[in-house]
Amino acid sequence: MNWEQIFSILQNYHRLKRPSRSIKMAARLAGLGWIGKCCLLVTPNVGPRVRWASILTDAALKAIKKPMKDGCGECHECVDICPTKAFTGEPFRPEDPREVRYNAHNCDKYLSKLEKTSALGVCGMCLYACPYGKNKIHNS
Ligand code: SF4
Ligand code: SF4
Repeated sequence: MNWEQIFSILQNYHRLKRPSRSIKMAARLAGLGWIGKCCLLVTPNVGPRVRWASILTDAALKAIKKPMKDGCGECHECVDICPTKAFTGEPFRPEDPREVRYNAHNCDKYLSKLEKTSALGVCGMCLYACPYGKNKIHNS
């Protein structure tokens, strides 16, 4: 992420209803990606394989980007691959609660089970399946 993108996140923070709760939503408003059917922020270059960090400031910064258009289209990869069927496949709409798209309980329950029964204790198949940036995993 470059400085322009970091500033863009900060500039849009005031538009969030619950700014302390979701860096992902801040990044969406800053035009760094869209909320995919996997409920993660998907970027054009590396898909959902991103970790976000933020800096809070009261500096009078100017917005330079707008939210990005949804790029999921007809793709269903994350929905289909999830072993717990946690995703409904509904596209993101800012006015909808997350439950319209995602059953977090299914995922949490499955991850708890994996922690006890597998050496890795993680899933992440929804990240793995996303075609955006997938070629970069295999090329790295
Ligand atoms: S981490 Fe695994 S179980 Fe959880 S939502 Fe993603 S694919 Fe489904
Ligand atoms: S796998 Fe497909 S539907 Fe899911 S977030 Fe990525 S592009 Fe969107």
